[in-house]
Amino acid sequence: MIILTAGCQVKTIKDKNKSVIICSNEVINDLVKNIGGDFVETNLAIKSGNDPHSYTATERDIIRITDSSLIIYNGGNLEGRLEWALGKIGNITPAISITKNIPEDKKIYSGNDFNPHIWHDAALWAEVATFISDNLVKMNEENSQVYFQHEEIVLYSLMKLHKYIQEQVALIPTERRILVTEHDAFAYFGRAYGFETLSIQGISTYAEVSSIDINNLADILIEKNVDTIFLEATVPDRNIRLLQATLKTKGHFVKIGGTLYADTLGYNNSYEQMMRHNIDTIVKALLKK
Ligand SMILES: [Zn+2]
Repeated sequence: MIILTAGCQVKTIKDKNKSVIICSNEVINDLVKNIGGDFVETNLAIKSGNDPHSYTATERDIIRITDSSLIIYNGGNLEGRLEWALGKIGNITPAISITKNIPEDKKIYSGNDFNPHIWHDAALWAEVATFISDNLVKMNEENSQVYFQHEEIVLYSLMKLHKYIQEQVALIPTERRILVTEHDAFAYFGRAYGFETLSIQGISTYAEVSSIDINNLADILIEKNVDTIFLEATVPDRNIRLLQATLKTKGHFVKIGGTLYADTLGYNNSYEQMMRHNIDTIVKALLKK
C-alpha cells in the first residue's frame, strides 16, 4: 500500500500500478479507459444515464474525488455543480477540463455561453484523445509508450467513425439535413457533418420552456417544412410532444424520428456505439418521408 500526501490530504492507493481517475461522465470515461488501459482504474462522478446538467456533487463524490489521483471533466458548465464543487475542494486533486484545451476558433457559443457538447464531432474528439493521452503521460511517464500506442488505436477508430458518419450523412438529401432535438446538444455534430440544428431548450436542460418558445419553434419548422423531430434519452419527452401537438394544431404533422443520446452513452457500450446509434437513427428517420 502506498500513501501519497497532497496538500493536507492523505491519499490511499490500493494498487500501486494503477492510477485512480475520476471521470465526470461515461463519454470521457470511455476515452480515458481506452487510452489508460490496465494502468488506470476509472470511476464515474455522474452515474450512467443521468443528465449531466443537473449534477450535484454528493459528500461521497467529494471523498472519492479527493482520494483519487486525477479528475477529468468536460467543463464549460456541462456537469451541473461539479466545477463549483471542484473550486471548493481546491488543489487536493489535479483536475483537467478537456474543453479548456479546445482552440477558440473550434468552440461554439450560444450568445456568450460556450456550448460544451464537443464529443458529437468525432474529429474534435480525436483532439481530446491526444490531450488525455498527454496528460496521462505527464502523470505516469513510465507508461508513456503504452498510452501512446493506445492513443494511436483510438485515433484510428475515431477517424473511421468520422468517415462512417460522413458517408451516412451523404445518403440524406441536403434539404432534409435539419436536426430538431430537445436541447442544443448537437451544434458540434451539425457543424461537423452539415446539419442545421434546432432545439427547444438552449445548451442546458434546466431552463424553463414557455409556450411562446414552443410556438416560435413550431413556426420555424413549418417554414422549413421539417417533418421529423427527435427525442433525447435523458430528457423527458414532454416538450417534444408539446411541440408535436402545437404543430398539429397548425395543420403540420411531424413524426418522432427516434431517441438520440445527447449527453450519455445510454445502453450503448461505448462512445463509438453511441455515435453509430445516433447517426443510424437520424439517417433511418430522415430517409423515410
Ligand atoms: Zn446537454
